[in-house]
Amino acid sequence: MKLPSKVTNLLWRLCKGCLLTNAALITKYVDIAADCPWCHRDVETDLHVMFLCDFAKTVCSTTGMSHLVACSPYETPGTIFERIFKLATKDQCIEAVMIYWSLWSRHNRWVWDRNNGSVFGVRSTASHLFRVWTEAQIKDGNRRIRGEVGDRIWTPPAEGWVKINIDAAVFLNRTIRVGVVIRDDLGRFVGARDLKIADSYLLADPCNGNPGRALFGTIVMDRVQLVKHINPVLVNFAYRSANTVAHVLAQATCSITDMGEWYATPPSFLVRALELDLVQ
Ligand SMILES: [Zn+2]
Repeated sequence: MKLPSKVTNLLWRLCKGCLLTNAALITKYVDIAADCPWCHRDVETDLHVMFLCDFAKTVCSTTGMSHLVACSPYETPGTIFERIFKLATKDQCIEAVMIYWSLWSRHNRWVWDRNNGSVFGVRSTASHLFRVWTEAQIKDGNRRIRGEVGDRIWTPPAEGWVKINIDAAVFLNRTIRVGVVIRDDLGRFVGARDLKIADSYLLADPCNGNPGRALFGTIVMDRVQLVKHINPVLVNFAYRSANTVAHVLAQATCSITDMGEWYATPPSFLVRALELDLVQ
């Protein structure tokens, strides 16, 4: 069953239990309230958001698959999707996963923007994405349309690769900070680093191929040569809209520390940008 990568990514995170709900964020020491931001009746777990929250139940009641997704608080999303894939038709399976992607997208819009999506909106967004994606697949033969869209939004790398987004911010005090974010082919956060690298005038010469007088210049030239010997590496320009996470990282830490590193778990201020890349 072929699906948009952002949908398979969500499905994978649901089945692996690593969706960034409030309950999950608290286990990663993020200071946040645990309750569901929509109904406030229970802890916001992946099971609650997708299957037990009143809004999720209402959406599912309009699809004819309520009997498949009705569950107890002791089930996991993985076992529920296993039941769906076992008992439903292919079209029903596609409808189900698209709606759950749309439901999570609507949840994020509510959390971040207080944008109150309706039941109709969730269904409409799900069917719209699948239609647009299907059309893009058909036209993928010449890669033209897919390429135009792909440049403007963040997309995961090819299978087996990681994508490293890098952005720099120059501040009034002439310091430059660089944000680096690594994600894998399923869009999962791998690691991030931010660093104050130099006063801005020290960077100009080495980036233009002249090491200059500073030790920093030599370091930059070494790295440029090093990258040329790493194979395979693809270096591409990314529009700001496809590079938001690195931009947020470079901007966010300007006044906090000289350097920050995160592995496996992103800093809380990056969570929103990471999620947005997966629901666009
Ligand atoms: Zn709820």
